[in-house]
Amino acid sequence: MIKTCKLCLQPANKLVKSHIIPKAFYEEFRKISLLGVSAHTYDKTYQNGIYGEFLCEKCEQKFNQYDEFAIGIFKQGKRQKSLHEEGNVSAFVVENVYLHSGKLHQFALSVLWRAAASGRDEYKSIKLGNYQERIRCALDGNNFEKALLDSAGLYFQEHRGGTENTFNQVFIPYKQHQNSKSFRETFGHFHCHDFGFPYGELLIRLGGEKPKQGFFDLKFDGFSGNAVLWTSNLSDEYPNLFFSKTPQSDAKKQMFRHLYKINRDSDH
Ligand SMILES: [Zn+2]
Repeated sequence: MIKTCKLCLQPANKLVKSHIIPKAFYEEFRKISLLGVSAHTYDKTYQNGIYGEFLCEKCEQKFNQYDEFAIGIFKQGKRQKSLHEEGNVSAFVVENVYLHSGKLHQFALSVLWRAAASGRDEYKSIKLGNYQERIRCALDGNNFEKALLDSAGLYFQEHRGGTENTFNQVFIPYKQHQNSKSFRETFGHFHCHDFGFPYGELLIRLGGEKPKQGFFDLKFDGFSGNAVLWTSNLSDEYPNLFFSKTPQSDAKKQMFRHLYKINRDSDH
């Protein structure tokens, strides 16, 4: 049966398997199963991460260029420098990533688009409005207008350490960040999409205003300089990206426990 590729919109004999979050983000779980918890009341075992079949082979390969840089930064530790460790919390910077923020924003937009186009249940609540077609055109022609890149942003968090490592591995594939008063007051008014994977989360901003907070003047042995939490705020003056590695929060652990309980109860 002839199918249609969602990126080039051309008929294709075969659609290939495409990961929404690159496979490298799944670390050791690339080969074995792991448990993802949805924002609803079911959980699911994932093997090889979450993928869909919505791209032709040629289009699938276009994503490597966006994924590679992000994998280098977030998963292979390129440009990363450890700042400080106290208890379970460690702080890091990605040095001088300002000049490459365009690449990170291409990656952010590509993840959003892949999730929305994938047809997967986990991502079905994603609504990108007219960004959906703008991002598709940009990806298809590998030509991103500045306004589109400026509308994006990434905030990376890693979950490591603590006494219960299992909780660092469990994740919620996707949820739209509650646009609550406290979120708006903390960061500003914009859409924020949370993508989970083992050991971490990527918050992706789309549209609205730039995050208002998350600017740091860091002074540590071996590193001093200005850094930001959100890639949207990288600039000449703030060229470094800050992120932390912490155990999964107690609130999330509690929620995971609660969801496990619901699922276990419904088995009987
Ligand atoms: Zn295609």
